[in-house]
Amino acid sequence: MADRKFGFIGLGQMGAPMAANIARGGFPLAVFDRAGTAERAPAGAQVLDSVAAVARAADTVFLSLPDGAVSLAVVGEIADTDGRRTGVVVDLSTVGPEAARAADARCRAAGVTYVDAPVSGGQAGARAATITVMWAGPRDVMDGHMDVLRSFCGNPFHVGEAPGQGQALKILNNFLSGTAMAATSEAVLYGLSQGLDMKTLLDVVNASTGQNTASRDKFPQRVLTGTFDAGFTTALLAKDLGLYLDNAAAAGTPTAVARAVMDLWRACDAARPGSDITRVYEFIRDGA
Ligand code: NAD
Repeated sequence: MADRKFGFIGLGQMGAPMAANIARGGFPLAVFDRAGTAERAPAGAQVLDSVAAVARAADTVFLSLPDGAVSLAVVGEIADTDGRRTGVVVDLSTVGPEAARAADARCRAAGVTYVDAPVSGGQAGARAATITVMWAGPRDVMDGHMDVLRSFCGNPFHVGEAPGQGQALKILNNFLSGTAMAATSEAVLYGLSQGLDMKTLLDVVNASTGQNTASRDKFPQRVLTGTFDAGFTTALLAKDLGLYLDNAAAAGTPTAVARAVMDLWRACDAARPGSDITRVYEFIRDGA
C-alpha cells in the first residue's frame, strides 16, 4: 500500500521511543496518549485527541498499553469506530495470552486483524531500535510490515500464527529476566559481604558462566552508577510474573522457582510501589 498511514496509542516509557523511531523512519504517523499526547508525541507525528481519531486516520495501529484490561478496552474502541480506516492492530503491550485471545476475537468480529506482538529490550533498546518483537499472527501481515518494524526493532521474530503465543514467549522471558535481577542482587550482596569489589565481581561473572542480563546491563549501567533507570517498573514486572505463574499453573508446568521469585517482586512493589526494577537491589539489601 503506497499511502499507508500508521497510528500509535500509548506513548509511555516504551511507546514514546518506539513511536519516535517510526516517525524518524519517515512513516506517516498519528498518535494518542490519554495522559497527554502533545508533550509525548514525537516530532513529525500528527497529534490526535482520541482512540477513535487514530482509528479513522491509520491503516495499522500499534498499541503500547499497561495491561490486558486497557488493551482490550482500546481494541474495542477501535473495532467500534464509525468510519474506521484501521484494518490491522499490532499490540506491542504485555497483556498475557488470555487477553490477547480476547482482543483477537473482538477484532475478528469487526473484520480487523489483531497481532499479538509483545516486545523485549527495555527503554534503552526501544530508544536504540534494537528491541525484539515476538510476532504471533499471520506471517504475510508481518512481511507487509517489515519496513516499519525495522524502523523501531532490531529483532523481529515470527513466533507463531496464534494470538497468545507471543504473550507466552514474552512472559516466560520476563520470568527469566526478573529471576536474573533478583538472583544477581542476592549474589552481589554475598560477594560484598566477603570483601569483594562490586565492579570486579561483575567483570568476573561476565567472563564466566553466571552472566545474565542483570550482570551484563542492569548492574554495571544502572546499579553501580546509582542511576536506577531501566525504565521498567516493579508494578509492570509483578504483573508479568503473575501472568507467567497463572499461565504456567494452568498449563500444568512446574512453578517452584517462579513462585519464590513472584513473592519477592510482589513484596518489593508493595514496599516501594512503582519503583524502577533495578531498585530491587536496595529492597533486598535494606528491606522495606
Ligand atoms: P507506561 O505506563 O510507561 O506507558 C503506558 C502508556 O499508556 C501511558 O503513557 C498511559 O498514559 C497510556 N495509556 C493508558 N491507557 C490508555 C488509553 N486508554 N488510551 C491511550 N493511552 C493510554 O508503560 P511502559 O513501560 O511504556 O509499558 C507499556 C507496555 O510495554 C506494558 O504492557 C509493558 O508491560 C510492556 N513492556 C515494557 C517494557 C519496559 O521496559 N518499560 C519492556 C517491554 C515491554
